[in-house]
Amino acid sequence: MPSVHISDAVRRIKPSATIAAAQKAKALKATGVTVYDFTLGEPDFNTPEHIREAAKRAMDAGHTHYTPSGGLPELKKAICAAYERDYNLKYDPTQCLVSNGAKHSIHNVLAALAGPGDEVIIPTPYWVSYSDLVELTGATPVLVETTEASGWVMTAEQLRSAITPKTRLLMLNSPTNPTGAVYPPETLAALAKVVVEKDLWVLSDEIYEKLIYGKNEFHSFASFGDAVRERTIIVSGVSKAYAMTGWRIGWTLGPVELIKAMDTLQSQETSNPCSVSQHAAIAALTGPQESVEQMRRKFEERRSFVLSRLRDVPSITFAEPGGAFYAFFNVSQHFSKPLGTSRCSVSSATELCAQLLEDAHVALVTGDAFGAPGYVRLSFATDEKTLAAGLDRLKSFLTT
Ligand code: PMP
Ligand code: GLU
Repeated sequence: MPSVHISDAVRRIKPSATIAAAQKAKALKATGVTVYDFTLGEPDFNTPEHIREAAKRAMDAGHTHYTPSGGLPELKKAICAAYERDYNLKYDPTQCLVSNGAKHSIHNVLAALAGPGDEVIIPTPYWVSYSDLVELTGATPVLVETTEASGWVMTAEQLRSAITPKTRLLMLNSPTNPTGAVYPPETLAALAKVVVEKDLWVLSDEIYEKLIYGKNEFHSFASFGDAVRERTIIVSGVSKAYAMTGWRIGWTLGPVELIKAMDTLQSQETSNPCSVSQHAAIAALTGPQESVEQMRRKFEERRSFVLSRLRDVPSITFAEPGGAFYAFFNVSQHFSKPLGTSRCSVSSATELCAQLLEDAHVALVTGDAFGAPGYVRLSFATDEKTLAAGLDRLKSFLTT
């Protein structure tokens, strides 16, 4: 067999740790074991009925062919109308590109803007794919550490000191995966000032925009004045708000010139996102919005439940998530101590996750994957019964 020479670009990246953790949990489940799986960040709810019905109608009406590579004009119009309705942000459809999920949108932005010699600023903890997608382009991720004590929020001073003449782009994500942090408007305004002054581009990943709890508020980064908006590329999609992860529809909103460049790339790489999914996304954005709020309320209840249970787990610490559907907590006080029924000892969050799965059949994702050693992520996008049983098991595993 000839040896396969994998390109330098692809050799630079690792498999997605969230997807790998979910596959490990599934493999254990397949052996007949009951697994308490809190790995994947995906709503457990079914896609609302009116959206599914729209997809069926689209298929029956013959919308099963190629569409324009960058998405249907009707969908682009629906996306722009939703931003005006929800955030009073006016975009023209020429400033919109529809892609195969928000992950694809992020790849498009990075591929169009970054390359060897460029630096991309990413606050940590960051969503697993950010650094790898930057490295795929040959650019260098510059990680800016935020802390639990500061609510996992990067300050304008931190941003300023990370900027060099090579800085090309800042990646922001609020609400944040994996911490659930929601950047306060004052912090966003201060970051926006630095962005304009230093003439940076910003990729603002706003995929959790509709999942906000308590007194927290969502503010799009593009809403902090025209100068910021001109430099901001919004990334979002239907995956989280409408429970549509499998449909693979994401989008970017930004300057026409960049949108055109990304459309060219997409026309060569993937052509259009799935035609039927695009029709479903039109129904999601233009149809009744009650289900979005119903699901958000459910997530908020689960969040309260999970946090109250976590407060009972010995020697862990966390900052309360203000959005998304993750609890992110520090387990480092449990290192080098006997854990669970096997009385094993671990020295990292990655080892702890492996032992927790083996001993207690509870699956979490290690903070190492998000650039936050000592932490683990629990997705509460799952039903209450599984959460209750899994949290009991987590507690007994960590009660020494
Ligand atoms: N950004 C963040 C912060 C995410 O957590 C995810 C995970 N789904 C994505 C982007 C990608 O979303 P999609 O499934 O639409 O590709
Ligand atoms: N974004 C989700 C997560 O963080 C889905 C998995 C993925 O796309 O990596 O779990």
